[in-house]
Amino acid sequence: MEEKANPFRNLPKVDAMLERSDVQSLLSSYPRWVVIEGLRRILEEKRKAIKEGLISSISSDEIAKELIDRIDEFSSPSLRRVINATGVVLHTNLGRAPLAKEAVEALCEIAPNYSNLELDLKTGKRGLRYTHVVQIIKRITSCESALVVNNNASAVFLILNTLAKGREVIVSRGELIEIGGAFRLPDVMESAGAILKEVGTTNRTRVSDYENAINENTALILKAHTSNYKIMGFVESPSLKELTALGKKHGIPVYADLGSGLFVDVRKFGLPHEPTVFEVLKSGVDLVSFSGDKLLGATQAGIILGKRELIEKLRKNPINRVLRIDKLTLSALEATLRLYMEEPEEKIPVLQMLKTSLAKLQERATELKDAIGTIPQLRIDIKKAKSAVGGGALPLAELDTVCVCLSSEKLSAKEIEERLRTKPKIPVISRIKDDTVLLDLRTIRDDEIEIAAKSVREAFS
Ligand SMILES: *Cc1c(COP(=O)(O)O)cnc(C)c1O
Repeated sequence: MEEKANPFRNLPKVDAMLERSDVQSLLSSYPRWVVIEGLRRILEEKRKAIKEGLISSISSDEIAKELIDRIDEFSSPSLRRVINATGVVLHTNLGRAPLAKEAVEALCEIAPNYSNLELDLKTGKRGLRYTHVVQIIKRITSCESALVVNNNASAVFLILNTLAKGREVIVSRGELIEIGGAFRLPDVMESAGAILKEVGTTNRTRVSDYENAINENTALILKAHTSNYKIMGFVESPSLKELTALGKKHGIPVYADLGSGLFVDVRKFGLPHEPTVFEVLKSGVDLVSFSGDKLLGATQAGIILGKRELIEKLRKNPINRVLRIDKLTLSALEATLRLYMEEPEEKIPVLQMLKTSLAKLQERATELKDAIGTIPQLRIDIKKAKSAVGGGALPLAELDTVCVCLSSEKLSAKEIEERLRTKPKIPVISRIKDDTVLLDLRTIRDDEIEIAAKSVREAFS
């Protein structure tokens, strides 16, 4: 039987490619496994392209050229630093909060060494890992007790599972939130074993709605922060104070999922009022939880504060072991929390970014524009714009900002955005508005200006 021409058969083999002198010469600068990995990845892509009918064949010359062009891509780690030029201070896709210098120093001290993670140095007995942050959290917030877990989703899960497994939790229909694809309050509730008792309507829920829903199987009243949306117009929902009064009357604990935990009043940054954790605790709520890496500006963590006996129950739930916080997280979290004892806005990057004045942003924009210099195909201007806080915090709030704007006769905004994201060694993540690419200076630090400029030049070289 005559064999059909098989395009895959003609694809060069990795071994044969490694014999070529141009591929060999890469081996003097890159590890052998990187070169092989690059070849494998390119060959996989070509095989897929042939299968989809996009190409019919490819020569070994073309593969060698592509390997040489893309070798830096193959030799870089998958998780890489990027420049956040989106202006979105808490960008979940970009890792939310960057850490303060003090937090990084703490990480570097703890990471390569042994530590007293679970050892009480005074008594020589076994200690609790939580003690390293609980003391400082108490000092900042005046809470009775505290616990930290892996993230705020874990905190919600742990609280529901501990206090309301097989029992009802009352939530307003206006607060059945979804925070990014995987966190939907009704689903988290179900997997924690709690029964959702919805009350009120999307736009209006009254204290009496909560009260009417209370029965002998009610375990908890939950107030969830509507972090990433806002209902406007004919709206009503009871205050936490009213809910805690109701909870006390019926002996039912009240829990507030704050989403983003704030230890400072954001009105001083020109943002709308958001209650601080301190204010929330003063309303008499039994438990609150929030993320470590939203407006708090620390690492990914779920911080739970509240009544001592409830926190003890949470700590003793075997699920807590599953959601356990890691020592590196703890070290960076403790260091960040300590910064709250004195001028946090001067040291915590997230707060510094919110605080940056327009004059300072203007100055940075000029610096960035000058550092980029001229690029033949690009028009580079400086314009005022608005930046968002992001990360499920203050959904409608916008801050005045200054951007370096890139546009071109030859390239579309989408093409410019893509080049900035894919070509430089340190990618620049930008946003497009009105068919121009904006580099927002709010999220580019002073010490990143040179790096950002270099990346922009690389993207068009
Ligand atoms: C962000 C958020 C969560 C999830 O917090 P993670 O730290 O991302 O797990 C839960 N609830 C609310 C209200 C949030 O805003």
